[in-house]
Amino acid sequence: MLQECRSNSLFAFENLESNVRSYSRSFPVVFRKAAGAILEDENGFEFVDFLSGSGVLNYGHNDPDFLQDAVQYLKSNGIIHGLDMATSAKRQFMECFDAIILRPRGLTYKFQFPGPTGANAVEAALKLARKVTGRHSIVSFTNGFHGVSLGALAVTGARYYRDAAGIPPAGAVFMPYDGYWGADSDTSEYLDRVLADASSGVDLPAAIILETVQGEGGIKPASKDWLQSVERLCRKNGVLLIVDDIQAGCGRTGNFFGFEFADLSPDIIVLSKSLSGCGLPLSLLLLKPELDVWQPGEHSGTFRGNNLALVTGTAALRKYWTNQKLSDGVAEAERVLNERLQQVAQSSRDHSLSVRGRGMMLGLDCSTGELAEKIVRRAFEGGLVVERCGAEHQVVKLLPPLTIDRQTLQRGLDILDKSVHASA
Ligand code: PLP
Repeated sequence: MLQECRSNSLFAFENLESNVRSYSRSFPVVFRKAAGAILEDENGFEFVDFLSGSGVLNYGHNDPDFLQDAVQYLKSNGIIHGLDMATSAKRQFMECFDAIILRPRGLTYKFQFPGPTGANAVEAALKLARKVTGRHSIVSFTNGFHGVSLGALAVTGARYYRDAAGIPPAGAVFMPYDGYWGADSDTSEYLDRVLADASSGVDLPAAIILETVQGEGGIKPASKDWLQSVERLCRKNGVLLIVDDIQAGCGRTGNFFGFEFADLSPDIIVLSKSLSGCGLPLSLLLLKPELDVWQPGEHSGTFRGNNLALVTGTAALRKYWTNQKLSDGVAEAERVLNERLQQVAQSSRDHSLSVRGRGMMLGLDCSTGELAEKIVRRAFEGGLVVERCGAEHQVVKLLPPLTIDRQTLQRGLDILDKSVHASA
């Protein structure tokens, strides 16, 4: 019995854990440890990680500097849980974030720490936008993904998750994202038109929420022009702009924020995933000071601003955002990834493969979920962890750690290349 408890089989996951589990089905081994861009299973088999916890591990697994700060904090009896009391860890994080990220970009925001997940932060952002404007409706976009709690789910397009809600997700209206009607059509004109037309049937929303690159929706990057048009129509109509930077932020697309390339000035920014630097749960709303209409404790929660995550989050800001090195590395890796993926797509027997994305958030669109599944399965067998996204799960989604070295990046790409050729 004891031996069974200690075995490295998947028995416990398959028999004790709920059917709701998903990643342990796609990657049916038991992982034991990880460093940088390498995951290792219980048999000592290594996998290159192009999943990065779905965007949580932008700085790779177990960065030794972050771990050192975390261990030192724990050993010094630092506050681990403090509700939202003032702690040294939180002060240090806010001061560093303000000095390293906001002020150099000319940005002024107040910090709200909601519960630790991305969906928690999205819920808080929607609630605040409704409170500020007194309006109910939120405009979201086709294929947008913002989480699966009820409020966040209402602004999420994916049918699979919406069907699981149990009640009709309410309070949102969906508009076509950039490119939804093809490259030649500017969908922001349609949005502009329906908001200007009092009889369009579309109520003036409290906010528009968007991702600058849709992640779960299929790695769909919005153009600078389109994003700027959406921002303009927000301003024209007194509608708040919420940028959900949970997956595209923290350097994933090159700059710290995913919207910087388009010079946006969002009213509310939502961050989570890689914010703590090392996978500890942490999320954050940045809100323009004039929007801070909350009454004390009005939006509450037991686990807000996880102190250990704030310690490692501060370490990440100091290590990676006080110079340009990380952003330059992302630009260089984007070139390598893009070039190789284009080669893979063009040389594959199935010419319906295409590549898109921004920074180190790239997708190989395989047209069908079946083909993408085969590729991802073979890749796993060959030692690469990579997942799928998109409405039909037809896109192989590449999110290597931003800190991955060139050799490991090539190793992952070689495995992917072989998997595509063996599958297509
Ligand atoms: N928003 C975006 C853009 C996401 O990619 C995700 C998760 O993938 C979420 C929100 C939800 O975050 P969480 O799963 O932590 O609730």
